[in-house]
Amino acid sequence: MPDLAPTSHNLSSNEFKRLNRFGITCKGLFIPSVQQYVSDGDSANSSSRPVFPVQVLINGLAETIQWDWNVRRDSEKHIMASNIQWRSVWLMLLFASTIAAGPVKRRSTESEKAPSETEISQIVEWIEQRYQQTKAHQTLAAWEYGSNLTEFNLSKKTKAAADFAEVAKAVAEELQQFKTDQLTNATLKRRIKKLAKLGYAALPADQFKELLGAIASMESNYAKAKFCAYGDATKCDLSLDPELTEIFANHREPEELKYYWVQWYNATGAPVRESFQKYVELNRQAALRNNFSSGAAVWLNEYDDSTFEQQVDDVIEQIRPLYEQLHAYVRYKLRQKYGDKLVSPTGPIPMHLLGNLWAQTWDNIADFTTPFPEKKLLDVTDEMIRQGYTPIKMFQMGDDFFTSLNMTKLPQTFWDKSILEKPTDGRDLVCHASAWDFFAIDDVRIKQCTRVNMREFFVVHHELGHIQYYLQYQHQPVEFRGGANPGFHEAVGDVLSLSVSTPKHLKKVGLLKDYEEDEQVKINQFYRAGVTKLVFLPFAYTLDKYRWGVFRGDIKPREYNCKFWEMRSRYSGVEPPVVRTEQDFDPPAKYHVSADVEYLRYFVSYVIQFQFHRAACALAGEYVKGDPEKTLNNCDIYQSTAAGNQLKEMLALGSSKPWPDAMEVLTGERKMSADAILEYFDPLYQWLLEENKRLGAHVGWTDSQKCVSHPIDFMAA
Ligand SMILES: [Zn+2]
Repeated sequence: MPDLAPTSHNLSSNEFKRLNRFGITCKGLFIPSVQQYVSDGDSANSSSRPVFPVQVLINGLAETIQWDWNVRRDSEKHIMASNIQWRSVWLMLLFASTIAAGPVKRRSTESEKAPSETEISQIVEWIEQRYQQTKAHQTLAAWEYGSNLTEFNLSKKTKAAADFAEVAKAVAEELQQFKTDQLTNATLKRRIKKLAKLGYAALPADQFKELLGAIASMESNYAKAKFCAYGDATKCDLSLDPELTEIFANHREPEELKYYWVQWYNATGAPVRESFQKYVELNRQAALRNNFSSGAAVWLNEYDDSTFEQQVDDVIEQIRPLYEQLHAYVRYKLRQKYGDKLVSPTGPIPMHLLGNLWAQTWDNIADFTTPFPEKKLLDVTDEMIRQGYTPIKMFQMGDDFFTSLNMTKLPQTFWDKSILEKPTDGRDLVCHASAWDFFAIDDVRIKQCTRVNMREFFVVHHELGHIQYYLQYQHQPVEFRGGANPGFHEAVGDVLSLSVSTPKHLKKVGLLKDYEEDEQVKINQFYRAGVTKLVFLPFAYTLDKYRWGVFRGDIKPREYNCKFWEMRSRYSGVEPPVVRTEQDFDPPAKYHVSADVEYLRYFVSYVIQFQFHRAACALAGEYVKGDPEKTLNNCDIYQSTAAGNQLKEMLALGSSKPWPDAMEVLTGERKMSADAILEYFDPLYQWLLEENKRLGAHVGWTDSQKCVSHPIDFMAA
């Protein structure tokens, strides 16, 4: 969320850099394989080669095999030369554990018997250790590259990523052989299920390579897009970040914006249509091989709840009345600025006027749409500078927030190893804020070229939210060291930011003095949050609903483009600035589509963070339903151990339980619901109802006519 936490992944600038983080070879292979909540970043300087000491007991004889992965790859003659030999290691271990368990009746039939639950548990534990080591190694390599962008570090990072992918595949293949149905221990079952995910690696080698190649070509097409400046055909080195992003945020000339919009969508869409179709086809094959009906089912399976798709649809319905009011108001303001010719009074909003290439958030046009422009927006930057704030001080205050909740204090290694300020030794690095888990104990770090201002003050708290989550679940086995579902991690960071960004909190920590908060100032604040968080919801929803349709085969190749715009129009009330056809192909113009990254996680995060916030606020005694003095949008959970203890309990579960169990610990609820976010925005909703009536602004929109289906030859069949 750009406003409170600009580091979230839905921000397009910088996003594409993430593609390098784990190496294209492993991307999409094992979806939950990486735990850095990085707005991007990466890297790879592996300081040492991975060495796997394998304790193998054979006939009571202990023997240590140093498993050097590099040697393994280089020499087929080496003792552990292939995945097949992985199997023999498991079997040896199994054999050894049988011996360890007691006298063995050496009957030939025994060695063919399925392993017992205890044996399986021992095997899994052993696998976890090796898996964790490789993952830790990969993470370190990624960190080192992200901290120092050299070719050498890049090659180390890429290699570490490939090594991890290989190990993870071997682990998954091995564990898939176990029949888990009969296991009585539900946690063991879940551990195996998580480690046994093969993902795309279930495809035969040639198809697997083809699929990764298709995704890599879409990503690379996206990353390399370059443009000529508007009205200057000699200046042709403009790219998404920073130029186009900055132009969309700050320029207001419609013809210029339209020009860049068309350039961007043309360059990042149609050229990858063929790759996209290949990707869809192989994605489906992989899903079937993993016993799922489609790629949509694979993604939804991460949410562990058969009703989840319905919950998502319900949220969209719940927020629709508020969204329509906000849409009506913004469209009215745009008409005031640009006139009826450009902006229809009753149609969808031409999206190039909304301050963002994808119109996913509209906060960049808050300067001329804000309800009460004469009122100053809250900003404590000057006060921070006056008081001599430094990046370290900002992190110390974040740490203080968590310890005030009785949560875990940052370990010394965090301070020793993090990069909290931009290094001055001239190296290149990925500066975008990111939080990292190194899969050890107490090794967590942040990389952020922190600047002293209010926006980054909130980002610091958001990133520390990820760090706190890592610390709380670090005792869990490696496959449970993750958020309860893909939306949880981002949500936790934001729960803190929701408190920190209140005037109440800023006053408490001495950053806000003589601040007069009247109703108009409050509406301005809620408006800003609304055009950031609320308008994002239908956008995020569409991005995956569209892909679910494509993966399921409900949306056919001949209608790929117009179906996309039909959905953007239906759910967000926006449309392209020019007429598009099936010769265009616009969905890959969003990074996550080009890069095969699931997007629903951001939607989920934006919804559940308000549920978390409401529960924590109630525990802190800061929120009482119906009490005008204790509202959800003016709550600060600082210093509440009651809220902190409960939050801690939820975080400590990691992903060891289905997410409704985790959510229940903090909120008592087991479903995702828009109730809390609607309650938070209620003052804005009430104001919009009145204001739109006063202005005579039309509410709702007609269907867009901006995509025309002209089937083209190669699609016609
Ligand atoms: Zn984040």
